[in-house]
Amino acid sequence: MNDDIGRSAILRRRFIEQVWLLLGREPKKPVEITARAQEVHELKRMTNKQDLQAMKAHVRAHARKSTRWRNRRWATLIAVNLLFVVSYHFDIQLLEGALTASRFAGFHLIDINSALQVMLAHKHIITNLLIGTGTVLVLWLMLGGRTFCSWVCPYHLVAEWAEKLHLWLAAKRLVTDQPIDRRMRTISWVAFAVLAAATGYTVFEAISPTGILSRALIYGAGLALLWVLALLVFEVFFVRRAWCRYACPIGLTYGAVGIFSPLRIKYSLESCFHEAECRKVCLVPHVLATVIKGRAVDTEVAIGPDCTRCGLCVDACPTGSLKFDIKGLSKLL
Ligand code: SF4
Ligand code: SF4
Repeated sequence: MNDDIGRSAILRRRFIEQVWLLLGREPKKPVEITARAQEVHELKRMTNKQDLQAMKAHVRAHARKSTRWRNRRWATLIAVNLLFVVSYHFDIQLLEGALTASRFAGFHLIDINSALQVMLAHKHIITNLLIGTGTVLVLWLMLGGRTFCSWVCPYHLVAEWAEKLHLWLAAKRLVTDQPIDRRMRTISWVAFAVLAAATGYTVFEAISPTGILSRALIYGAGLALLWVLALLVFEVFFVRRAWCRYACPIGLTYGAVGIFSPLRIKYSLESCFHEAECRKVCLVPHVLATVIKGRAVDTEVAIGPDCTRCGLCVDACPTGSLKFDIKGLSKLL
């Protein structure tokens, strides 16, 4: 009973810590760990180094490189964006508009961040916007918040391809990643909100690569694509995934929605060998700090709301220690 109370308090503190991480704080070593997790950490510490190496080698030899989740995600992202294009060009009226504001089978869908910017610029609450935002809020609340980023946003896909080029050049020591303070994204969120309120214009909408690419796909290319290209060049040569990691306010807004989402990635401490393959592929490796040896606060840990539910870590983990999970459902099955 006391153990359960202690465990709940530890998990509550971890939850709050994850919200701070979303805002830009760096992950810290946990002060408290549940009794169950302490046992597992201790067992791992006691395991003979040679035995551990042998186990790791065995797992590596039998692990198959998977791209299952990546393929599903890319297919979904392309299909959603193509649906906009097809609906517009063939006048099907199934999915009208662009990613920032659309109508799907009669339901208004308005991007939460765009709606916020518009209302700040106009300085009053617009009822139609609120209704459209409500639909989107429920949708992304169910589906995971930043799931929007990796499963829908067209910039995510092109930035993922640019990242491959960056990593290839980095392996040849031709470029190095220059990380930026992650608090920059929170500052950027506040700055664009203040700009909208002060100027009466939705400044962010004009430079958001998400909106620019979505509109370009549907209505045709424009000069704004040069800005998207400049961003990608910057990411290839200077800062890995700069826009999505350190600047995009949409990521932070949907991250906040993801705090309450039942769909998340779950980490199992017992089967993990702490090789950190997952952290190498993750857009937001701070959410995976829990996989570092000795860091997990419980034997099963939910990954925080900044996670985009992209599934790359699920594909990369050779021991299957990271999995998609729906809160509460695994207990029922
Ligand atoms: S952070 Fe912004 S640009 Fe990046 S994937 Fe999310 S919405 Fe798209
Ligand atoms: S934790 Fe996994 S699912 Fe989440 S963003 Fe990182 S790689 Fe993707």
